[in-house]
Amino acid sequence: MTDLDAQEAAALAAARARVDDSVRPASLDDFIGQNELRANLRVYLRAAKERGKALDHTLFYGNPGLGKTTLAQIMASELGVNLVSTSGPVLERSGDLAAILTNLQRHDILFVDEIHRMPIAVEEVLYPALEDFTLDLVIGQGPAARTVKIDLEPFTLVGATTRMGLISNPLRDRFGIVARLEYYSPEDLSRIVQRTARILGVPLSPEGALEIGRRARGTPRIANRLLRRVRDFAMQDGGAIDSGNAAHAMERMDVDASGLDQMDRRILEVVIRHYDGGPVGIKALAAACAEEERTIEDIYEPYLIQHGYLKRTSRGRMATSKAYAHMKMLLRT
Ligand code: ADP
Repeated sequence: MTDLDAQEAAALAAARARVDDSVRPASLDDFIGQNELRANLRVYLRAAKERGKALDHTLFYGNPGLGKTTLAQIMASELGVNLVSTSGPVLERSGDLAAILTNLQRHDILFVDEIHRMPIAVEEVLYPALEDFTLDLVIGQGPAARTVKIDLEPFTLVGATTRMGLISNPLRDRFGIVARLEYYSPEDLSRIVQRTARILGVPLSPEGALEIGRRARGTPRIANRLLRRVRDFAMQDGGAIDSGNAAHAMERMDVDASGLDQMDRRILEVVIRHYDGGPVGIKALAAACAEEERTIEDIYEPYLIQHGYLKRTSRGRMATSKAYAHMKMLLRT
């Protein structure tokens, strides 16, 4: 990754964080859904506090916008420790990581977003830090080079990834807690937007909230974003959001009744029309949709697969009968 890419990634993440921060839940009680994970985390946090030890290293995986960063922040606040945040693409050199590690205070949480994008040389520096809270620094070059061991304060690494398959085995094995975040139900999403609406001071009926929850692709970040846009449209009707103006606003934003957006439908259309339903490889699909492979793989495809529109075979992606039915229905209307 070039310096520019890294800067861009950092700027994007910061901009996203600013938008998210105003409505981010601050405690486990405020965090809605993911009940099993939440209950387990509560146990782990209490045990770590009672033992007076740093919490085990934790890896969260799941699609963007499901709450990984939020959980890391909640863990730090529940433990009463600092949260130091960075991301895989920003840690270009092992020195970048060493500087962060040596500044951590006792039991702090180091949050590394997109941890699968950390360079391997940086990852190797992390191993002894995770295992023994030590850092092996190489000083000098050539025959005069020597290694010095530096002791670190005990800390907790919280890693987040959208791509579990890209995490190396040695790194994965060093996490004591590995947890997957699932897509949210429409009901959970409707509770999330009702909470956000209260914070933003937007009048929202329960039916309006459910309409947004149904179309948010199982993802809190999308639900909150839809709420903000629906609010803009509802201002023309005096500001209050109900199911009628919510549905109308989302149609205007090209989000259909099943919650699929323009790109979801484009993907299905390409597989069905251009490739006769598939199988089609990711490269060809990305080129035909004019979208990056990674975006399709990380954002669109998982939802389409989990909701039965696409299936993945060894020869590529294939459209299911649900995809045909959905696209035919759209053609008819
Ligand atoms: P990720 O790190 O997985 O990409 P974030 O933690 O940044 O996702 O969450 C995105 C947004 O969704 C945040 O603004 C947060 O407020 C909201 N959010 C995520 N999960 C929940 C939840 N369980 N309850 C309420 N809001 C949530």
